[in-house]
Amino acid sequence: MPLADARRLTEKTAYFPGITNTGWHEEVLVDPGIDEAAYVATGATTVVVTHGHADHFSTAAAIRRAGARVVAPREEATLIENPEVNIRGMFSWAKPSDEMVTKLFRGEGCPVDGYLDEWRRPGLQAVPLAGHTLGHTGVMTDDGVFFTGDALYVTALWERHPLPYCIDPTLVRVSLDLIGRLGPDWIVPGHGDPVEGAAVATQIAHHRDRIDAISAALLDILRVPHTTEEAIAALCEHLQIAQNPAQYWLAVTTVKGFLSELLQQGFAEFFIDAHRGCWQAL
Ligand SMILES: [Zn+2]
Repeated sequence: MPLADARRLTEKTAYFPGITNTGWHEEVLVDPGIDEAAYVATGATTVVVTHGHADHFSTAAAIRRAGARVVAPREEATLIENPEVNIRGMFSWAKPSDEMVTKLFRGEGCPVDGYLDEWRRPGLQAVPLAGHTLGHTGVMTDDGVFFTGDALYVTALWERHPLPYCIDPTLVRVSLDLIGRLGPDWIVPGHGDPVEGAAVATQIAHHRDRIDAISAALLDILRVPHTTEEAIAALCEHLQIAQNPAQYWLAVTTVKGFLSELLQQGFAEFFIDAHRGCWQAL
């Protein structure tokens, strides 16, 4: 395989390290990164996109123009074909200014040729891993490598991003359990170094612990009623999140995800007071 920069993990499976890691298994690329010429030169016949964030399909359109077929989760296809949908969704469908939008959401849209729930390919299995986004899906190889996209954040990433993007922490927990049950030899996360062997369980446990800690901190904040805006600010302050418009709008979605979970679990209530949306622990 024409993959000078690829790091081989098993006989058939490799990955390209990058800001977003890219998987390789027998002419299939998973989440192609930013170097268009390099990824087109692999001669990939299929591109799998794990979810609709632009840093995971940077060069998918270019590789498709070179002849590859692009497959993606059904629920994510609209976002991949038109990244503007994701940007609008972030801002409740109104139009945000450029500075509000993370560069991770900007990119060239790419037509999707097939859906992962219908995709059959010997040696590869699409595994739904929702929670980071609604349709997020990983890919596991028959030689024990699991490309998990953004379903699992490794410890080093948590240190840099204490509130990583997530729309549904309950689904994230289910997905982490599934990764553990499938027992891969290797995990290649979307960001950060691959994880091998016993370290897989350690990383899963760490991610789960971090989510539990965020939920507990938010519930503690809500012992006193908070508006949505105040709850976002208090949790971001607690976690020492970087302060800029793009980070703020990412945090808005993630904190709402955690608030919604507390509501659904019966740990908190939502009410309106003087036209303000308010949250309080029960
Ligand atoms: Zn993502």
